[in-house]
Amino acid sequence: MEEREGFIVSLGCRKCGRCENVCPNGALYRVNGFANVDHEKCDLCMKCVKICPNKALVYME
Ligand code: SF4
Ligand code: SF4
Repeated sequence: MEEREGFIVSLGCRKCGRCENVCPNGALYRVNGFANVDHEKCDLCMKCVKICPNKALVYME
């Protein structure tokens, strides 16, 4: 199994929707507007982290 270095968490999402279609792996989904990350699908590409204007998607080690 692949060793994981960390994961992306959603903290203080403001439901703007900017991250909606940015994830190439379908790992990012929204529940009631709030962003969530499926850690099984996320490969830590950081695209969502870069696009969020509120810095709500954060890399945690
Ligand atoms: S880091 Fe990349 S793969 Fe992971 S949720 Fe964000 S856009 Fe998707
Ligand atoms: S871009 Fe950021 S604030 Fe906007 S919906 Fe996504 S995580 Fe939430």
